[in-house]
Amino acid sequence: MIFKLPRTADGYFLEDHVKLRPVDMTVPGFFLAGTAHSPKLIRESVSQANAVAARAQTMLVRNEINLGAATARVDGNLCAACLICVRSCPFNVPFINADGYSEIDPAKCHGCGVCVSECPAKAIQLMQFEDDRILAKVEQLFERISA
Ligand code: SF4
Ligand code: SF4
Repeated sequence: MIFKLPRTADGYFLEDHVKLRPVDMTVPGFFLAGTAHSPKLIRESVSQANAVAARAQTMLVRNEINLGAATARVDGNLCAACLICVRSCPFNVPFINADGYSEIDPAKCHGCGVCVSECPAKAIQLMQFEDDRILAKVEQLFERISA
């Protein structure tokens, strides 16, 4: 519940991709092995645990971890502190800061864009997918179609 890790209908933790990321979870830094994933034999659990150790090592050997650039950013001048983004974020990232506007920690943001679409004041932009970029692409598309 705390980390919003995805689960199956049966309550087991769910991997990010069954073939491409079989021991990684959708939240970076979380891995799964053994019966947390599903009922399985000891031999399968050990293989999975070895894979998890190898995956975790790829993170631990780095001095720095680069985060994804697609994170949400709030324009404090537009924010009306209505709390809609605070309530709608599936990862509980936005909060109203001491200055009275919503703030999003880029290190915690997953870039899902839910808050961006929910904000009635259009105070939130998703970096790399800003409104002007999207609109420019749409306009270019229509120009091509009508040409
Ligand atoms: S939804 Fe928009 S206006 Fe409301 S608190 Fe969040 S950023 Fe501010
Ligand atoms: S982009 Fe998604 S994860 Fe990031 S703050 Fe908005 S709703 Fe939360």
